[in-house]
Amino acid sequence: MPSKTNKAIFLDRDGVIIREHGDYTWLLEDVKMNDGIGEQLAKLQQKGYKLIVISNQGGIGKGLYTTKEADYIHFHISRILSLSGVVIDEYYYCPHHPNSGKCICRKPDSQLLEKALGRFELNAAECYFIGDTDRDMEAGIKAGVKPLRVEPNENLARVVDGILSGGL
Ligand SMILES: [Mg+2]
Ligand SMILES: [Zn+2]
Repeated sequence: MPSKTNKAIFLDRDGVIIREHGDYTWLLEDVKMNDGIGEQLAKLQQKGYKLIVISNQGGIGKGLYTTKEADYIHFHISRILSLSGVVIDEYYYCPHHPNSGKCICRKPDSQLLEKALGRFELNAAECYFIGDTDRDMEAGIKAGVKPLRVEPNENLARVVDGILSGGL
């Protein structure tokens, strides 16, 4: 049986890739890339990490925006990151809102991470989840990947250097 040798960095979206502004983001004008994000993700990608976004988009379940609008935001983010040579391998998101019942894809649950681990044949022990909330950390731990907490909108240089130097 082939062993799973791929590795990935899982990334929360709001507060990690784009600016957390205290509300749902579904309008292009609210999308602001965090400082240094292209440069930092490029460093990870060059070391062979896949880049996979895992986010909660409860605004869809609330009826604020559609999956099509969320997909468009992701297309837009990818286009900006491509200027740094960065390719996001996949965006996974939970479209449910807890008001309409419990699902198993919303963080802190780990179903989306597990999907990605299977699909990309990832070795969980080689993967990290970079997030800015407790629920990101919890989801990472449940899926067996290393959780790395950052401050909302922090430049990822600190954790990326930690990962690449083997210190985290
Ligand atoms: Mg966040
Ligand atoms: Zn869900």
